[in-house]
Amino acid sequence: MVIEQKRCSHCKVKYLYQASGDGCHDITNDEKYCHNCKDTINKALNKIPIMREMSFIKCEDFTKKQMQEMVEIDKEAQIIMHEKKKQLALEQGRPFIDLMFTRVFPAMFDWNDGDNKNTTGELRIVDTLYSYSWWSKTDKFELYKIMEIDSQTKENLGNWFD
Ligand SMILES: [Zn+2]
Repeated sequence: MVIEQKRCSHCKVKYLYQASGDGCHDITNDEKYCHNCKDTINKALNKIPIMREMSFIKCEDFTKKQMQEMVEIDKEAQIIMHEKKKQLALEQGRPFIDLMFTRVFPAMFDWNDGDNKNTTGELRIVDTLYSYSWWSKTDKFELYKIMEIDSQTKENLGNWFD
């Protein structure tokens, strides 16, 4: 469990923020606001309905092999981009602050065969965000398109963008 002392962005009191461990997902535990301010923000936001939601639509746009290749290409492209930005910063004498962000997805575990590894992730191909999951030792492969849905009308509004 990691506890950090913070100063509230709004009321400026010092408070304790729990960065990890049991309780860190408490709705008033926030990196920016003290518990009182966060509670007030939560109560105000509760009055505003959620307008959009993600919908995972199962599809067969790509095969397991195609997805594996594209995920590999994406990883290599990210490393190349990172190195290019670093090189450019060095040439221009700027500090290099581009961090490589890779979203970590919890992989599933095969209790019958520990060597059967699961890979789960998301990859944007052209405009579509895909969620994929495959197993190393079997053909089991799942692919979903992530779409934006109007929470009220349930209308599909197209590809999900963050
Ligand atoms: Zn506060």
